[in-house]
Amino acid sequence: MIKTISYLGLGTMGSGMASNLLKAGHKLTVWNRSAEKCESFARKGARVAESPADAVRDVDLVMYSLSNDQAVEEVVFGARGILSGINEGQIVMDMSTVLPAMSLREQEAYAKRGADFLDAPVFGSKQESADAKLWIMAAGKRDIFEKVKPILRQLGQTVHYFGKNGNAAAMKLVGNLIVALEMEALAEGLVLAQKAGLDLNTVMEVLKVADFRSPLIVSNGQNILKRDFSPSFALKLMLKDAGLIEKFAESLQSPIPALPIVQENLKSAVALGFEKENASAVIKALEKEAGVEVKAR
Ligand code: NAP
Repeated sequence: MIKTISYLGLGTMGSGMASNLLKAGHKLTVWNRSAEKCESFARKGARVAESPADAVRDVDLVMYSLSNDQAVEEVVFGARGILSGINEGQIVMDMSTVLPAMSLREQEAYAKRGADFLDAPVFGSKQESADAKLWIMAAGKRDIFEKVKPILRQLGQTVHYFGKNGNAAAMKLVGNLIVALEMEALAEGLVLAQKAGLDLNTVMEVLKVADFRSPLIVSNGQNILKRDFSPSFALKLMLKDAGLIEKFAESLQSPIPALPIVQENLKSAVALGFEKENASAVIKALEKEAGVEVKAR
């Protein structure tokens, strides 16, 4: 039974998950590169570790949510990284969005130390993480998955098992391909609606009910109309994910002809200075080209 947990990476997603682990009564250790993000967790009773190696000492389960493959490289494989502190019998779970190949490298490296590994990325954003309503996928050995499932249920509304290591990471990229295209479709549609002089509130009313509706389109559409681009899923992370999807699809020779167009728009939005805004700010690149601003009257 899992009693002690470490969480590394207290960004938008990690901070919500770590808070919910504390709320559920787990004994928690935290580590974050910028130490100030640990303070509120220390006040709530978490132990603050000095390094990733120190963080994983003597815990049953290690979890992390880090920006990208490079961050995982540093935190896992780097000096005073997780691998230098991990021991036999411990379970490690990477909840970041990374390439399936990275998940396989992690699994092999942990296996050499006698530790088990699951890739366990998530759907949902800042709010779902804070509310323990994530949609979680996990891959690795079935018995290890069964051991951590009760913990994952405390963080998410659904938990799906995907079989061998790397498969959950692959599913995350499949989902984010769809997310990227949906976001682009919403942006293009709203700019066209604005150009056509349609009432945007009524446009949103239709988007909420029509047979192509989606929660992503509704929440992002409403925020665009309010000009609220505060980050739940930062534009720079969507651009990072588009790069991962491109590499992954290329490795399988699977066609993704629409994605390069989205990537170009994301890059234009970054060039305009919107990389730290929400991914929905991709619309700003199209607005500039169209000479309009999409805003509710
Ligand atoms: P975030 O708010 O930018 O947080 C990133 C975390 O990674 C921070 O703790 C950051 O530390 C750490 N980090 C970055 N580079 C590092 C390095 N070189 N060494 C050590 N730590 C490093 O990102 P997030 O939104 O929480 O996303 C985390 C992961 O979940 C990403 O893989 C993302 O793609 C994925 N994801 C995000 C969402 C979403 O809606 N936001 C949804 C699903 C999945 P500092 O605090 O020191 O910068």
